[in-house]
Amino acid sequence: MHTKEYIEEAEKYVAGTYGRYPMVPVRADDTHIWDADGREYTDFVSGLGVINLGHCHPKVVEAIREQAGTLMHTSNLFHIPPQIELAKRLVEASFADKAYFCNSGAEANESAVKLARKYSHDKYGDGRGDIITMLNSFHGRSLTTLAATGQPKFSKGFYPRSPGFVHVPFDDLEAAEAAITEATCAIMVEPMQGEGGVHIPSPGYLAGLRKLCDERDLLLIFDEVQTGMGRTGMLFAYEHEGVMPDAMSLAKSLAGGTAIGALLAKEPFISALGPGTHASTFGGNFLATAAGVAAMDVFAEGSILTNCKEMGAYFTAALESLKENHSCIEEIRSKGLMIGVELDHEGVEYVPQAMERGFLINCTMGSVLRFLPPLTITQVDIDRLLAVLDELLPGPEAAD
Ligand code: PLP
Repeated sequence: MHTKEYIEEAEKYVAGTYGRYPMVPVRADDTHIWDADGREYTDFVSGLGVINLGHCHPKVVEAIREQAGTLMHTSNLFHIPPQIELAKRLVEASFADKAYFCNSGAEANESAVKLARKYSHDKYGDGRGDIITMLNSFHGRSLTTLAATGQPKFSKGFYPRSPGFVHVPFDDLEAAEAAITEATCAIMVEPMQGEGGVHIPSPGYLAGLRKLCDERDLLLIFDEVQTGMGRTGMLFAYEHEGVMPDAMSLAKSLAGGTAIGALLAKEPFISALGPGTHASTFGGNFLATAAGVAAMDVFAEGSILTNCKEMGAYFTAALESLKENHSCIEEIRSKGLMIGVELDHEGVEYVPQAMERGFLINCTMGSVLRFLPPLTITQVDIDRLLAVLDELLPGPEAAD
């Protein structure tokens, strides 16, 4: 079948929850994707920050093939060897003492909310379950994570809203402090906001939140669903400033491209979720966690993070040069290969225009072009995209 026929069938049979582009990907390799009509695209979206290792990384593919032919699922009634191995790798690579596995970012954040509430309930009794989150944040589409998300547009039509969340401006320590009450049990924050338009907080902000949480006996939860697994140049974004959370959610790229979610946490917090308090049929299944172990192997080799840092710096510098000729670019915000280009006008129209030229890009918050390429992206691919942006964006302005 070709693109046209696929789309006709999709319109007939698939729920219309997404505004999809008229493109049908059928095959991919590293930083490139091919559609059902044989057209090639260079990927600067990575399936929304999932394909950090590049499409179909041979080690991940091999691990999935091997596991699929051995054992795929038993449920968590039993101990699962690749789940144990992935938990060990994550604990050894992070602040955490233990890991709980689920299937998505929203589920990982739901788990973090349950952990914070249960720990506080066990210690202080009922009445201490409120969580402070940030305006402009994004934590998922389940009802509780929608309530945590500081963007009311996503909750429209789905009231009543789950109670227990207080939103304060991102990167504003005083506002966070002022919002703490006797009912607060945790502060949950993306160390760098992704969907909200790629916002990087001021130095000291995360450390300030850490201090507040220590002083008021609150859990500090980092949502690293998007920033985790190397996206910002470190395995976890909290490493940039060395500020450790008590709990952290992961998903997206954790299993090299297959569905997974995880909550990592320290003791004594993680022990609040004892037997029977939380569960997921598929959470930490053989297939996903075997892929996760393979992904951790690839990270351990080191070249992925090195390329992310080098290409992130190269891409950002190239965008800064582009800005000199295109005054419609207001700001470039980046850490590693998590890059946002704030325009002074709507940017959504550039996404299909870039696709016509063979590039997948993303636009968030209306006016922020967001680039989340595989961390294996090359200088050649970046240069080719830059030429397209130069052509698409208004300008260049006449030199004086
Ligand atoms: N948290 C953050 C920071 C995200 O960026 C996302 C998705 O974009 C989520 C949570 C939700 O993840 P999922 O779509 O896997 O539920």
